[in-house]
Amino acid sequence: MRHPVYLGHGQPPAGCKTWGQDTLDKNDADSVAFFLVGQETTEVLDQIRHIRGAEAPAIYLKPIVVLTPSASGSPAEQAADAVVEERTPDAPRLERMVDRFHPINQWIASLERNALSADGDPAFRLLRFLVSRGEEVTPVMTTASPEGFTYPTLEPLISQRAQKPSLLETLSFLENQQLVSGRFVTKAHFCSHCGSAFLNFKEVCPDCLSEDIDADELIHHFRCGHVAPQSDFATRDGLTCPKCDRELRHIGVDYDKPSVVFQCNNCHNRFQSPSVVSTCYHCERTVEPEQQTLRRIHAWTPTAIGNSAAVHGMEQLFMRVIDKQLNLWSLDALKQFVEVEKARNERYAKSHTSVAVLQFEHLSEMYIQLGRRAQQVFAELAQVLTSVLRRSDIIAPRGDSTFVLVLPETDEEQAQRALERIDEGISTLLAGNLESPPVLRSSARLLTAELDLDQLVETTVTSHG
Ligand SMILES: [Zn+2]
Ligand SMILES: [Zn+2]
Ligand SMILES: [Zn+2]
Repeated sequence: MRHPVYLGHGQPPAGCKTWGQDTLDKNDADSVAFFLVGQETTEVLDQIRHIRGAEAPAIYLKPIVVLTPSASGSPAEQAADAVVEERTPDAPRLERMVDRFHPINQWIASLERNALSADGDPAFRLLRFLVSRGEEVTPVMTTASPEGFTYPTLEPLISQRAQKPSLLETLSFLENQQLVSGRFVTKAHFCSHCGSAFLNFKEVCPDCLSEDIDADELIHHFRCGHVAPQSDFATRDGLTCPKCDRELRHIGVDYDKPSVVFQCNNCHNRFQSPSVVSTCYHCERTVEPEQQTLRRIHAWTPTAIGNSAAVHGMEQLFMRVIDKQLNLWSLDALKQFVEVEKARNERYAKSHTSVAVLQFEHLSEMYIQLGRRAQQVFAELAQVLTSVLRRSDIIAPRGDSTFVLVLPETDEEQAQRALERIDEGISTLLAGNLESPPVLRSSARLLTAELDLDQLVETTVTSHG
């Protein structure tokens, strides 16, 4: 049986346990039905960020309920799973909420033990949150974020440190991996230099680019055919034609206004259509609107692939990037192929096949370090493998960050050289992109009848240095 847990200083509502905020990770997270925040605390949003910033999924995914005397639609209330307009909700009310959040808690409990320890990757945390809630998240306009839009329930999951992928960027990463799908809501322009949504669109003189221009309506006097800006017709008593000196009384009868004319107060040029430029409020760069970034703003739901990745782990994210470029086999299929090759090599003593194992250590940290460049670097990493491997070579992922390769018509020395070239290519690629490149481990053996593939993988993965 799970219970509501009150985070705060004052008296908790009846039937609630109280936890100190700094002991979040020291208590039994499984026993929590939802966290209650807000009563007699002013920093409600900070409390929500603290919970959503925890590493353990059993903490950061838990439902959060804000207690408030009167709801105001504040960012904290929008970020919570529910708002209760009471200082001390009674026990039956809290029990109904326990029931309401049961599906979310069941989903969290269904994660395997080792999947509950710690999630560092922001994209994966977002994905898990979306899947655990099973509801579409919709964008909300805000001036509090430089991106101009936010998803209030997701925002506390993303740390706001500079150089990290933003919330919108993280969501589009998930979309590129087909882990979430978007429903069109609106479009918005963003600064192509710094990404800020705050742009000032201005009409300027097409000749001297001055912003100091005035619009004036053109007047066409039917009687004499004279066409000039309205200011030329204006007199104290109304409108008088400067050419024929007649008074203009009725629009549609005496005259009409065929268009608008602009006058530049800087170069005194007159023109019909001004140019448009946009200036970023943040970095102050001015460019034509077409050169800014136009993005679609979506509401998001997880896909079937996303649902499965949320349960099985973030390494699937990397495999998906790599699988797009490399034709990955399944490990079972590769093992079957190895058996066939063993038999073939035995029969035709002249032919050689080698097997190799490649392991990237700290793949997930690499993704976090790379931030917004992760997808491109992973694609280039796959490119290194494609450039070294031949069409007849077979590659299969094993678990999170290990690859098993079968290289037909290749002796051990040639296989070793192929691994060296992969190692060099990847080191060069990552050295330019990362301060602390991950460790790459590899080994190659000639495929003989005695070779134990699982053994080779184990020794490669556990070897050090
Ligand atoms: Zn001008
Ligand atoms: Zn006239
Ligand atoms: Zn900018």
